[in-house]
Amino acid sequence: MTHPKTEICDAIRARKRFLITSHAKPDGDSIGSQLAMAYALEVLGKDARIVNADPAPEHYMEFPGVPRIEITRQLVERPGAHDAEALIVMESSDLKRTGVGGLEGRFTINIDHHQGNTSFGTLNWLDESAAACGEMVFELIEALGVPLTIEIATHVYLAILTDTGSFHYANITPKTFDICRRLTEAGVNPAAMARRIFDQNSIGKLKLIGALLAEMDLLDGGRLAVMYLNDDILNVTGTTYSDTEGLINLPLTAKEIRAVVFFKVGADGDIHISMRSKYDVDVRAVASRHGGGGHKNAAGFRLKGPLHAVRDGILKEMREAIALGVQVRA
Ligand code: 5GP
Ligand code: MN
Repeated sequence: MTHPKTEICDAIRARKRFLITSHAKPDGDSIGSQLAMAYALEVLGKDARIVNADPAPEHYMEFPGVPRIEITRQLVERPGAHDAEALIVMESSDLKRTGVGGLEGRFTINIDHHQGNTSFGTLNWLDESAAACGEMVFELIEALGVPLTIEIATHVYLAILTDTGSFHYANITPKTFDICRRLTEAGVNPAAMARRIFDQNSIGKLKLIGALLAEMDLLDGGRLAVMYLNDDILNVTGTTYSDTEGLINLPLTAKEIRAVVFFKVGADGDIHISMRSKYDVDVRAVASRHGGGGHKNAAGFRLKGPLHAVRDGILKEMREAIALGVQVRA
């Protein structure tokens, strides 16, 4: 059987106009994967249009090409422009997770590194061993024979640095460092990238961190941290939802904390539940019981509120996941 990467290369070579998308509320991996792909397609003389449901986090706006991403919940073909010949979807379990309507029924290339991808594409390349979707995009770009421009290298590095949590998480392999070596050879400055990506807090965000940690609950003998976000905290600190990206990882820096659950209650009452864990505590198992997904140590799902109706059940499942994880490790 032909490797999906080879089939995708052939499909790309045979086409000229591409539409690229990823999941709603994009993170560093989705932004980096999409833009690295777009720049590579342009090096090959092709057209690439990127469409996302939500804007990139503010501090990614200065990265090359980020402002060109079109933000819409419903795709409208550009007047006078030809319809795209292929859709490339990065790290999205299904088309619905893109949050963009009107993508259905196209020749679709589906690239993802999460478990639980529904193989919704015409061509599907799924590799759960990849540390970031950006690693897969790098391999694709290499297979297409595209030279590593500074824009491509920057975006692949953005994807890998953020999705590995600055080289903290599982799935980091010799390949990850080999790719990063190639990216630094192509001109990426790791110290400057770390500053641009991680040292970009506003004063409001510092206050948000303070408020979230001040109200954090510790359960299960200090092994489980619980954080809550609502519009009041955002208003008081002058921040927005996208300022919460990455904050769930803060409690894990405490030695005894094994897992974190972050309840983010939206204005509509819907709740996004984010979870993180260490070692063998499997939070993806919790997410998948509720129709969500992710990885063993980072997963999430959505529920209808109200919070008090769903909270205790989820906290019970988290305690069970911690107990099970500790058993596996012992
Ligand atoms: P985060 O907590 O940063 O939103 O997401 C952590 C991980 O869980 C990511 O890999 C993300 O793709 C996955 N994830 C978060 N929310 C959902 C969801 O509602 N559905 C699915 N399938 N995966 C999710
Ligand atoms: Mn990813």
